[in-house]
Amino acid sequence: MSLATALYAPLAVLGHDVKVPLASGEKVGYAALDYAASAPALQRVWDDIAAYAPYYGSVHRGAGYLSQLSTDLFEQSRRTVADFLDLREDDQVVFTRATTDSLNLLAGAVPAGTRVLAFETEHHASLLPWRHAGLTVEYLRAPRSRAEAVAALEAALAAGGADGPRLLCVTGASNVTGELWPIAELTEVAHRHGARVVLDAAQLAPHHRLSVRDLGVDWVAFSGHKLYAPFGAGVLAGRSDWLDEAEPYLAGGGASRTVAREADGSVAVEWHRGPARHEAGSPNVIGAYAIASACRALTEAGFDVLEAREQALIERLTTGLAEIPEVKVLNLFGEGSARVGVLSFVVRGWNSSHFSAALSAEYGIGVRDGLFCAHPLVRTLLGGEESAPSACGAPEPSLPGERSLNAIRVSFGAGTPEEHVDRFLAAVRALVTDGA
Ligand code: PLP
Repeated sequence: MSLATALYAPLAVLGHDVKVPLASGEKVGYAALDYAASAPALQRVWDDIAAYAPYYGSVHRGAGYLSQLSTDLFEQSRRTVADFLDLREDDQVVFTRATTDSLNLLAGAVPAGTRVLAFETEHHASLLPWRHAGLTVEYLRAPRSRAEAVAALEAALAAGGADGPRLLCVTGASNVTGELWPIAELTEVAHRHGARVVLDAAQLAPHHRLSVRDLGVDWVAFSGHKLYAPFGAGVLAGRSDWLDEAEPYLAGGGASRTVAREADGSVAVEWHRGPARHEAGSPNVIGAYAIASACRALTEAGFDVLEAREQALIERLTTGLAEIPEVKVLNLFGEGSARVGVLSFVVRGWNSSHFSAALSAEYGIGVRDGLFCAHPLVRTLLGGEESAPSACGAPEPSLPGERSLNAIRVSFGAGTPEEHVDRFLAAVRALVTDGA
């Protein structure tokens, strides 16, 4: 039994046996190769949700048995996530809607006057919340190696002086190239200069074991729907001080400890400290429970095994693509740089949107094309600086033979069988051979 087959059963994903129609009318099994956008849910996560569904009730304030059971499961989910991330003793886990929500929450909690640093290569979710919150942001130019990234941060922090709080927001693995960023090294530099670090782990958490304690980052954010759980829940975890001192992300019930009418007719509010402060309203208990279920499933499968298996698939993919001269793989840090199962490329003579559409219509393979909500990065990778239509990931025209204005992304993870990678490679070869 191959490694891929051996692992497929414990981490079976939903939708693997879904049949989709081709342009010819024939139906084939769907090859989901767009995990970086949203990974299919694990069967096991779905089973856990189904088992819990008859029992769920509103958390924290209900007196009934099911409310108390739900409260226990919700708080247990928080502890499971804390273990999954290997948090420090005083760190807290806030349940959010997704990574975008987590980073916006943190942006609102950052002390006024904080100088934020971000590489321009970030996903828009880690690039934009800071300026949206009215903070001063310094965008660092795209580095062309990991060492250059570390040196650029060192230089920026040294040049900026040590006045006031500073925060670096950085991704663990690129959603465009899949390349791994030197998080421990960047964190060491940041901390040496008195700056804090928030790690965007949307693409890292599903693929690698994450230890906040070892990496030293101050906060980490990730999304349930990229971690084999359904949509609607995410996590912001890390240091409590800024979160406990900030105004609540949302004002409402659950975040408020006491609300009292004052003699002058105004209303005085005392807010909770801890996660409840930023979780106003009825929380997404099932979403949190699903994330915890996915964390348990991945931990039990073992990241050593998962990483080894994914690495084998990455090698299969990169070797196969290297044999197709028309294909150009996009790397920021150079050929052969370490990555997770995410890779973008362009095909000479092909419009990327047409190519992706052909993979779907003729082969039942689901990839993605566009700028992947990382416009500055993709433009750097494609060698152009000019602006392009800014809809997130919207297809853009490019004529055969001209420089591409967008790219194709293929991505996979736990549960992806070798057969999907092989089918993808065969389809790319066939499309290139048969012509645009
Ligand atoms: N950060 C990275 C690196 C991502 O790839 C994504 C989504 O693609 C996000 C943040 C935003 O995640 P979400 O859409 O779940 O909020």
